[in-house]
Amino acid sequence: MLLDQYNIIKLRTAADEDCKTSILVIYTGGTIGMDYDEKGSLVPFDFEILLEKVPELTRFKFQLTMLVPFEPIDSSNMGTEHWLSMSWLIEELYDQFDGFVILHGTDTMAYSASAMSFLLQNLAKPVILTGAQIPISAHRTDARENLIGALEIASMQESKQQIMVTEDGNELVKEQKVALVPEVCVYFDNLLLRGNRSKKVQSLNFTAFESQNYPHLAEAGIFINYAKSYILPVPETKLNFKSAMDDNVILWKIHPSMNPKYYLPMLENDNLKGVVLESFGSGNIPTEKWIIDILEKIINRGVVVVNVSQCAGGYVLQGHYETSHALTQIGVISGNDLTSEAALTKLMYLLGNYDNKTEKEKIIELLQTPLCGEMTLF
Ligand code: ASP
Repeated sequence: MLLDQYNIIKLRTAADEDCKTSILVIYTGGTIGMDYDEKGSLVPFDFEILLEKVPELTRFKFQLTMLVPFEPIDSSNMGTEHWLSMSWLIEELYDQFDGFVILHGTDTMAYSASAMSFLLQNLAKPVILTGAQIPISAHRTDARENLIGALEIASMQESKQQIMVTEDGNELVKEQKVALVPEVCVYFDNLLLRGNRSKKVQSLNFTAFESQNYPHLAEAGIFINYAKSYILPVPETKLNFKSAMDDNVILWKIHPSMNPKYYLPMLENDNLKGVVLESFGSGNIPTEKWIIDILEKIINRGVVVVNVSQCAGGYVLQGHYETSHALTQIGVISGNDLTSEAALTKLMYLLGNYDNKTEKEKIIELLQTPLCGEMTLF
């Protein structure tokens, strides 16, 4: 069995012997699981002592299993191989658990959540990423609240009626338990956010994450209030895990006074397949000839260029100002209200699964289509 290959810890909870609900916690590292070493630096600690740190876990009425998929890391070191390995694990263990909680560093949590939302298409179970600004072993830690809230959300189910037609043509109404939040989400400081809309906005305060251009999916107070109309519906078709990503992609942040001497070599690299252009305001860039010329040249040789805004709100509207007019003409794709994190990981996902030379039209079509709630169509 797959689980045997990993360091697995079954946590003691208040679940009955015959309890069917089961949650998997995947621990990947980050501040949440760190402690100070003798030099005063934060390093990952042994997470097997989790129950000691959060004794409240013993009161949960569902089964809790913990798995460490790789050596715990600071999330600054996360990349495509980690996103693929976490998503693959979820796919492999999908039928054994009702929900998944990923303990993750906050620095790149929005990237991981975005990437996993694309890799796990037609997700019908919650995948909730959480972490902490203060380690779980510290007195004033925010880890306890974040972890407990994430677990509660991951275990939430509701009844849904399904109409089945029997062989003799009669209709049969069947009650089915379905997840309340069948999405990849970030839960932090009492807020549940769609993963591919989330952004780390604070490095010191507990209010570390915000949702860009999309409402919160839930807010925890005395009760957890779910904004059901904003949560994705349970899909009709089964989970579709895509096992490839291509990192021949760059995030190019536009700024005043750009010197071509530094940027041209990067853009002229033959291996480049995708560019996320982080533009000003509603999609504007300096109207310098070299910028349009190089973008046109690389687009003509198959590179996919998608335009997202540096602003925290609003969306790209190419052609609204003269400074973005040429972008549409040369084939730059508008990313509408995509976050940079979602645009970058979506491009890596599409380029990993479709050929940018022979299937460029398909890539462009999917880039302009919301695949899992990551962007709004205007
Ligand atoms: N550097 C840490 C990380 O992202 C920060 C954190 O977890 O809050 O892994």
